[in-house]
This record gives sequence, C-alpha cells and structure tokens, in this order.
Amino acid sequence: MNLEERISDWIDAHEAELVRDIARMVAIPSVGAAPEPGAPFGAGCRRALDEMLAMCREYGFATECYGGAMGSADYNDKPAALDILGHLDVVAPGEGWDSEPFTAVLREDGCLYGRGVDDDKGSTVMALFAMRCLRELGVELSRGCRLLFGTDEESGSGDLRYYYASHAPAPNTFTPDTGFPVYNTEKGMYRAKITRSWPEEDGAPSIVSAEGGFRINVVPAEARAVIRGLDARAALVSGSAAAGRCGVELLAADIPGGCELTVRGLQAHAATPWEGRNAVTALWAVLAELPLGGPAHEAVRALARLLPHGDWRGEAAGIAQSDALSGELSISPGIFSLGGGRLCVECDARVPLCACDANCRVPFEAAFSAAGFTAGGTMTPGHHTPGDGEFVRTLLGCYERFTGLRGECVSTGGGTYVHDIPGGVGFGAYFPGFNTNLHGANERIKVKDALTAAKIFALAIAGVCK
Ligand SMILES: [Zn+2]
Repeated sequence: MNLEERISDWIDAHEAELVRDIARMVAIPSVGAAPEPGAPFGAGCRRALDEMLAMCREYGFATECYGGAMGSADYNDKPAALDILGHLDVVAPGEGWDSEPFTAVLREDGCLYGRGVDDDKGSTVMALFAMRCLRELGVELSRGCRLLFGTDEESGSGDLRYYYASHAPAPNTFTPDTGFPVYNTEKGMYRAKITRSWPEEDGAPSIVSAEGGFRINVVPAEARAVIRGLDARAALVSGSAAAGRCGVELLAADIPGGCELTVRGLQAHAATPWEGRNAVTALWAVLAELPLGGPAHEAVRALARLLPHGDWRGEAAGIAQSDALSGELSISPGIFSLGGGRLCVECDARVPLCACDANCRVPFEAAFSAAGFTAGGTMTPGHHTPGDGEFVRTLLGCYERFTGLRGECVSTGGGTYVHDIPGGVGFGAYFPGFNTNLHGANERIKVKDALTAAKIFALAIAGVCK
C-alpha cells in the first residue's frame, strides 16, 4: 500500500474516535470572556486549551502552553517546516438552535452539530488526527510539524500576538479555519463607527430606544425598538410591508404608552452578509415606514437610506467596488443602539485588495457626514500568498488526490487567522458547496467530510515535512 492508502485506511478506522474527540472539545463553552489569572481570554478558553493539551499528550505528542493563550503539539523534535494554526475559542451560540449548542449531536443526516464543530475545534482535532495518523503509521519526517491552537481568534487574536512575540512563524503555515481548496487571498477590513446625537425630546409618536446585534462580525438575527405613542396594531399596519420586503418576521406587543417591536432575521458571518437577513437594517426599514416624528426617527430614516436592507455591496454609501483577485466589497451593520438622545452603528466592511482610504474610507465617512452623522474607523490591508509556490501547489495536490476535485486558490472576505502571517494560507476544513452554518445556529460538519479533511491534512504534512 502506498502512503495515501495507508492514511485513508487509518483515518477511516478511527472515525468514532474522531467524532468522540470533537465532542469532547465542543463540550467546553469556550466563548471569550474577561481575563482571569492564568486565563487571558477567560476561564472557558483556558479550560478548552488545557483539554486540548491533555488530548495531544494522550496521543504521545510533546506539548507546550504559552501564557494560557496558546498551546502547541510537535510531531517530532525537529524545527517546524509547517505550522498548522487552529483555535479553540468559539463565538456565542446565539439563538435558533435545534439542540444544545455545547453538546455535539450526530444526526441522521450524517452531520455532527454543535458550536465549534467546524469553527474551529473540529478542524483542529482533524489536524491532530492527521498528525496522530502519521505517527501511528510510523512515518518519519525529516522536518518538524507543529500544531498550534489559540484561544482568541474570534475576539482580536491577542493569542497570536503573544505567541509570535517570541516565536518565528514556520516557513509554511496553514490554518484549517477556512475552507478547501486553498484560501490564499483575503480581503482587507474597514470597521466604521457611525454616531449621531440630538437634544432629547419626549414628543410622540416617536422612537424611545432601539437596539440589535451583539458582535460586529455577526449579521444580527434580532433587533428591537420601543415606540411611544403608537400601538402594536398600528405599527403592524404600517410596518408589515417593509418587513415582508426584507424577508424578516415583525412582532409587535403593546406596552404602557406605546409598543415594542421585534424583528427576526437570519444570522450569518459578516464576511458573507448575503447569506443572512440583517435584523438591524430590516428594523430601520420598518421604522422608516411608521408614522413617527422627532430626531430619532429622522436619524433612522437617514440610516435606512445610506445602508438600506440588502445593500451589502455598499452602493448607497458610495463604496461598492471589486477586483478580479479578491472580489466584491461587502458591508454589514453589526451592532446598533439608539436611546437617550444618541445612536451608534458599528459596521464591518470586507474590502477588496484594490480598496484604499481614498476610494473607501474617505467617501464613506463623507457620505455620513453630509447626512448629519459622525463616521470614523480604520482600514487594515488584505493578505495575499501567491498560488504558484511549492507549498500551495503541494496542498492543492493533496486535496485533489482525496477528492478527485480540481484544486484551486480562492479568495475570502474573512480576516482569517493567518492574515498577518507571511506566506500563510487557509486550508480546510469545510468543502465547497456545503454550508456549515458558521457562527450561526446549528453549526455542523459532515462526518464523511471530516474524515476526508483529516486524510488531506495527513498527506499535506507528509508532503511539506518529508
Ligand atoms: Zn474560526
């Protein structure tokens, strides 16, 4: 048998263990939280880190822990030719799950459900199984491979800053925190904060308060508003058509002196806003149609004009643009609050490599300034690793051999984990055409795909570190 066949047989024979070990990691609710002693990203992240370190040791790998921020497992004692960079922190589960998010459940559709099964606990465990497979097959590598697992990918990558402050990146790095085949081009980012304030008035009918969204990089699934001087029935009569056009659910309930509105959309990752239905922009569309007055209503109407529901390209804000390498600009208003005479919107825009201050940040801020808002933010550049180098060609070749599909480089809107690592690429672990519900409810992986991913990783490690 050649190596490819031996890898395939070994991974197939360890399916139950792979599922069990992913479930073991999912069971730890490792949402980033306030620092505690020895736990710079909260106790849950630290527990997940310790569990992963223990698992790596159980499989015979030498491990190290870096300030409670990151951990590593080494294939051998040679300098690493390859770093594999995964993470163990997860985004908050949010609403809409059909099962308990921190209990991995295998359903009849062949999928494993749970927060982190794809992003990125499951993918990290697949990479560990790839290393374990090669070790148990007795494959000698002349160079090293280091599996790194961080605990702050979702909240600012403080883990990477800690580790890379005292360690050089390996000559090659891939993160199994995107999809197959290879993600070598990443958009840049523009995070803008839009504010406006006004002297508080207590006229009616008017908007008392409104809010939606809990993380800037998540398309909000729910938004709410409190209205004074308008009852629930009247709000539904005026607002239902707008809600229908936005494809969201609009609920209204009477409260003393007015009503409370709730809009339910569909959560998605801010890098792919077209996959969700933004409850905040839909709420603006609904509020704009209500017979209200006052400065809060005027401000919301202006937001609905400049960031209309469904306009994820930023056409109305004047920043729509694209290039052949990295694709189209996208924008997602992620966090919104209004009340007490002020409002604030935080937007997450993923910008193509061609975007710069002059054609993106400046016109965006000017458009909002002209409409009576204050807008500001910073742009971070994109990332590109050429697709024709030996490393990327090796990865693509491994993908082709286990899938029979054509391996090619693709671009992503996500600020991936290797955004700041020279020569780094995203590689796995989800497959083209399958929606893992990343960052949403009912996150899932196909178990069959997880096995294939582990095989691809194993062959890639053998190829890069041979
Ligand atoms: Zn991730």
